[in-house]
Amino acid sequence: MNQQALILIKPDGLKKSLTGNILTRLSETKLEIVAAKMVRVNRELAAEHYRHMKEKSFFEDLIKYIQGELHDRRKVMAMVYWGEDAITKIRQLSGSTNPEEADPTTIRGSYGRITTKGLYENVLHTSSNEAEAEREIKLWFQPDEIIVDLYPTKTMTIEKAKKIVWA
Ligand code: ADP
Repeated sequence: MNQQALILIKPDGLKKSLTGNILTRLSETKLEIVAAKMVRVNRELAAEHYRHMKEKSFFEDLIKYIQGELHDRRKVMAMVYWGEDAITKIRQLSGSTNPEEADPTTIRGSYGRITTKGLYENVLHTSSNEAEAEREIKLWFQPDEIIVDLYPTKTMTIEKAKKIVWA
């Protein structure tokens, strides 16, 4: 069954120059990249992305982490991968959330670490199931940024909306 998944290369992954390695590992899946961009993450986006972690003691650190404040890299690389069993294939390659428990051959097992404060810095985010993938993809991307039709869309006329265009 075809599925889609959101992948984020987190600020530690960018700081460690792992973009190429991560994309090479992910290419083993033969899945297609159907959207990609660099994103400066504001607090609202970070808090919405991690809304299921709100009660955790490390929530504020997690928000700082995804915003790049812990690594002086205020950006993440966001992508949508699409194809047969995308979520399972990507979760298997990325490995367990806790980088010390992750199989050492996985991306998180190879490159992740636990900080002295106890936060798991695990270099990438991957959607955990179809419902989360839909929520996350709609949070991070607009329909016209994705080159295939993943979810139903509607057309709206937005008047007087300000938009930056090339001068
Ligand atoms: P995943 O990113 O594997 O989907 P979660 O959604 O449960 O996992 O957690 C979001 C992020 O919060 C993790 O990727 C990791 O950076 C951090 N995290 C999760 N659980 C812990 C924990 N017990 N201690 C420290 N950091 C954690």
